[in-house]
Amino acid sequence: MPISEQQLIYNRQSVLGKIAAARQEFGCDWQVDLLAVSKTKPASAVACLYADGQRHFGENYLQDALPKIAALQHLPNINWHFIGQLQSNKTALIAQNFAWVHSVDRLKIARRLSAQRPDNLAALNICLQVDVDHSSMGSKAGVPISSACELARAVSELPNIQLRGLMCIPDLSPDFDMQLQIFSRLSKLFVDLNAQGFQLDTLSMGMSADMRAAIKAGSTMVRIGTDIFGAR
Ligand SMILES: *Cc1c(COP(=O)(O)O)cnc(C)c1O
Repeated sequence: MPISEQQLIYNRQSVLGKIAAARQEFGCDWQVDLLAVSKTKPASAVACLYADGQRHFGENYLQDALPKIAALQHLPNINWHFIGQLQSNKTALIAQNFAWVHSVDRLKIARRLSAQRPDNLAALNICLQVDVDHSSMGSKAGVPISSACELARAVSELPNIQLRGLMCIPDLSPDFDMQLQIFSRLSKLFVDLNAQGFQLDTLSMGMSADMRAAIKAGSTMVRIGTDIFGAR
């Protein structure tokens, strides 16, 4: 049975409450934005959350996202974030339809997004996906920490895209301290890059099961699917 609108709104408010509680517990003086990960969920669920004030939505699969984006294009200031694996043959449609891409891990993809971003749209916001735990389910997604600075430098020089920050998807570890240790690798890299002159403002980390540790480690954007929309 599809989730009710009442339940969706309750879930979103509950996640916002948990974010506020974590910020208070850990003394975070920075903002933590909520990205609602709507992959595989219908446009009607996105519209319901939009009516409750949600403006940022994350999608993994282009073919699943495009009909939703088209159906909801009348909603002002809705922001679509592409967070899935990037293939070269999909970059044009991503550059045309999204405001953010979190999963850039190689220069070739960044070059294509830059070249294909329509001139009449604002710069496409980019996060570099970093491989913080060398495992990533064997998919090897993410630039290694040791190459991230070089990639950031090259990406930041491209037109029509703006390098905003870093993103990671570590394998879930059940232990809070281990989650914290892994997320801290990404926040250390973030601090290091800004010390070298980058002006990054976005640390995209934390999902339903590890959000608290991500916030403690410095997350500025948590990507939450299950805790809002229910199981997939
Ligand atoms: C699916 C997904 C999420 C949301 O995960 P939940 O565990 O459902 O909160 C976040 N980020 C990425 C990259 C995802 O693919």
